[in-house]
Amino acid sequence: MEKILEVKNLHVTFTTYGGTVKAVRGVNFDLFKGETLAIVGESGCGKSVTSNAIMRLIPTPPGEITQGEIIFNGEDVTSFSEKKMRTIRGVDISMIFQDPMTALNPTLTIGNQLMEGLRQHHKVTKETARRKALEMMDLVGIPNPKERLNQYPHQFSGGMRQRIVIAIALICEPELLIADEPTTALDVTIQAQILELFDKIQRETNVSIILITHDLGVVAKVADRIAVMYAGKLIETGTKRELFYNPQHPYTKGLLRSVPRLNMKGEALSPIDGTPPDLFAPPKGCPFAARCDFAMEVCERVYPDDSLKSDTHRVNCWLQDKRAEHLLVINYRNE
Ligand code: SF4
Ligand code: MG
Repeated sequence: MEKILEVKNLHVTFTTYGGTVKAVRGVNFDLFKGETLAIVGESGCGKSVTSNAIMRLIPTPPGEITQGEIIFNGEDVTSFSEKKMRTIRGVDISMIFQDPMTALNPTLTIGNQLMEGLRQHHKVTKETARRKALEMMDLVGIPNPKERLNQYPHQFSGGMRQRIVIAIALICEPELLIADEPTTALDVTIQAQILELFDKIQRETNVSIILITHDLGVVAKVADRIAVMYAGKLIETGTKRELFYNPQHPYTKGLLRSVPRLNMKGEALSPIDGTPPDLFAPPKGCPFAARCDFAMEVCERVYPDDSLKSDTHRVNCWLQDKRAEHLLVINYRNE
């Protein structure tokens, strides 16, 4: 499979009066053509910062990419000028945000908003742009596109507005689409429709998608692979099957246990006790140690290396590290 994105050892910080927040701390992942990678984690874990870094939308200052590479189609995006980035954003890499209302301009018809992006980046006639806009409206499932092209955002429902936002993001035929909590602001039925739409878009355009979400239900529906993020680090990455059926990291297991299930009569949800660490002064070792039932002395001192469970399944936990086996024995003996 063709790799279109490679994020290598990415570090992002934000400098504030209170100190420096280490929001992303050494993130590594790849993305292949036509796949959907979900980055999952609690709010504040660094998942949005990671996607904003790929788009080079980190406000500098206070933010800064302090280390690492973001290789998109063989070139390191972190070295690009803002001028060069402007030719890539919305063209080769597009982004969809959570709230469809703020993403649209209330004073312009949706036809104009669809055509604007295209005409800014490609020299096309008005007629070609209009045809493409109608095509996109059809792709995202907006009925009667010809009539609706001249309507304003407030004349559409929330779900339809999010479809328009998706159409705008896709009109220049990007290779990479980043969707940050794209269904969070929508009600459950509409959510399901938008997720089906992502599936359809991928089948028809072969775009690669990074989906940022805290919702494992969303992940279960559309992701091919999942990367679990905690306190600025990716702590487990694998195929959907590997992470749902064979999770290795205690945090991933906790996240899965906290998903409500329809067949769970009377069983209590088990959210993970405690809170993530302070990213002004992140712990040296495993950031989950303070909340982990299995924490050993080494966990607090040293960050666990990558352990590979398969070609596609990677986890950072001392429980999976051969070198810690004797420590586990000691731990059990002490009990
Ligand atoms: Fe728990 Fe240690 Fe694994 Fe961290 S490294 S998740 S503290 S067992
Ligand atoms: Mg976010």
